[in-house]
Amino acid sequence: MAARRIVLLTLGWEDLPQAVSVHGAPRDQRLREPTPGVLVETEGGWLLLDTGFNTALVRDPGLRRRFYPDAEYVPVLAGDGEPLPEAMARAGIDVDDVAAVAVSHLHADHAGGLKLFAGRVPVHAQRREVDFGLHDARAEGAGVFRVDFDDPRIDWRLADGDVEIAPGVRAVSTPGHTPGHQSFVVDVDDARGGGGFVFAFDAADLAENVERELPIGSFVDVSPEETVEPIRRLKRIAAERGYRLVPGHDPHVWPALTAELADRFGRGPG
Ligand SMILES: [Zn+2]
Repeated sequence: MAARRIVLLTLGWEDLPQAVSVHGAPRDQRLREPTPGVLVETEGGWLLLDTGFNTALVRDPGLRRRFYPDAEYVPVLAGDGEPLPEAMARAGIDVDDVAAVAVSHLHADHAGGLKLFAGRVPVHAQRREVDFGLHDARAEGAGVFRVDFDDPRIDWRLADGDVEIAPGVRAVSTPGHTPGHQSFVVDVDDARGGGGFVFAFDAADLAENVERELPIGSFVDVSPEETVEPIRRLKRIAAERGYRLVPGHDPHVWPALTAELADRFGRGPG
């Protein structure tokens, strides 16, 4: 069995220097990047890939100062509500319909919505990522906020490398951006048009990281050049299967694919 539907979500935006996404880009070159989430309808129900920001840390002035002291990086949320349930509602899907969650990695713009799922559904991640987040003193400096996921009620399903996490959805280990980063390969059911997608998430933020094999700008325990190897690996997987490789934070690719998939799979719960 493969995925029946894919819905892309935009859970906020991030105003940041392009150098965060492309190693060596000029520091004064700034981008507004979408914060991604992906819903995949599988045989076992809706699987959510990544969860966006922890809204409390962005909106509460004290927490904002504590967690986002760097004026160069500005998290942006639309409105006053919770972006994840609101984005899901716009797609006609209730947050209670999520049967499982997977996180590409534990950065604050990907793991901040885990609070909505603790004690409710399984959460897939790489063991190395959770170990880094919980036990490495450098984690917070690297953008991994323990408060987002250090919760005894989270039902972790931890992997050591590549693993199928749902029918038609495979996690692929792509460390470098963070020690336990993973990307996802999604097969689409033949009855829904077939083919599939490789969601890089932060292994490749932008189309230029993929097309020009440019090193990413944010990484742990590897050199900038070493961040190109996971990109090449994802390109190989995509090429072998004839799937599209989707960068995680591209300001043009993400909204265009969001609209394309809404047209292909339909809006609403049907
Ligand atoms: Zn990241």
